[in-house]
Order: sequence, then C-alpha cells, then structure tokens
Amino acid sequence: LLGEKEFHGLALQVTPDVLVPRPDTETLVDWALDLLPADSTAAVLDLGTGSGAVALALARRRPGLRITAVDASEAALAVARRNGERLGLPVRWLASDWFGALAGERYGLIVGNPPYIADGDPHLAALSHEPLRALTSGADGLSDIRRIAAGAQAHLDPGGWLLLEHGHEQAEAVRGLLGAAGLADACTRADLAGRPRCSGARRPPA
Ligand code: GLN
Repeated sequence: LLGEKEFHGLALQVTPDVLVPRPDTETLVDWALDLLPADSTAAVLDLGTGSGAVALALARRRPGLRITAVDASEAALAVARRNGERLGLPVRWLASDWFGALAGERYGLIVGNPPYIADGDPHLAALSHEPLRALTSGADGLSDIRRIAAGAQAHLDPGGWLLLEHGHEQAEAVRGLLGAAGLADACTRADLAGRPRCSGARRPPA
C-alpha cells in the first residue's frame, strides 16, 4: 500500500496514513513562493504536513528557509520524515496539534492544507482510502481553520502571512475568520480549475 505521487516536481511516497497530495495544493506552494525571495532565510511553518508535500516543495525551491512542519499524526510524520530523508531536504518535523507544541515560536510565513470537508459530506465516499482526520472538520468543515486562524497572530512576525487551502465554497467564510482573528489584507487565490482554493491574510506590520 505504498504509492508514489508527483507534487510540485517532487516524487513523494504516500501511505494510507496521509492525504494524497493534490495538484490543487500547488496553488498554496506557488503563493508561498511568490512571497519568499530566492535567498530567503525566513522561518516557515507548515501546519498538517501529511506526506510533507508543501514543506518539501518549499525546501527544494528556497534552500535557505528554516522550515518547521507539524502534524498531529505520528504515522503521518513518519511518512514525511522518510520523504525528507530520501529527497535530502532539511525540515524540522514535529508532532503538534496545530500550534499546540509551538508555544513562544514565531514565523515569517505559515502555510497549511488542513482538513476542510464537512462531516458526512457524500464526497467522502470516494476518499475512503485516506485518513478521515486529514479530511473532515466538523459540521461546516471549518472547525480546524477556525482554530488555526485564532492561533495564528501569536505565531506570526509582524507583516507575516498565513496562507490556507480550503474548499471552493469556503473562501468568503475563511477570509471572514482571518479578519475576525485580527489579520489584515485577506485575499483569495484560485486553483488550476479557476476555483477559489486558498485564502491568506497577514499580521499587521509593526
Ligand atoms: N481537496 C481535498 C478533496 O476534496 C480535501 C483536502 C483537505 O481536506 N485538505 O478532495
């Protein structure tokens, strides 16, 4: 049950312990790359790294970054760590329920592809080979994004951005949550199919 999946130019190994990287998530990586100069040495956090896809794609394209990637699943982290070792890309892998293990840490950029499907969504039947905890997030699919938005400000440098993938009907709600959490300049980017797929906002500059 080991497969290989191409993501943003990387060959990643996946198991049933992780979400299979989707082309849509390359939108998140491309947005992050647009914010990071080629020689950036910023501290970057990947929330819910799964296979390590987003963290490793950023590590490959921006070798100076200091990347921390967290997941609440130890089994997922083992997959991510193996991918990092195989590809020779340095990432600090850490078990953490969102910001839970990151007290006092600040980042220049935070990215994440959290679960965002509503519990019981009929679409889940087609995704039964992937871990449910990587897919579903409460009655409206926004429970985890709500928690991440609420915790982000304390873990961002002034001016630092939080970028999140979400469902294509959630953009307005996510921008609202980011704004309610005190973040500024909320905006949305479309995926390859033109659907609103990622929203971000930043901690107001000092
Ligand atoms: N985009 C995935 C799907 O619908 C869900 C990924 C996620 O929940 N982060 O199939």
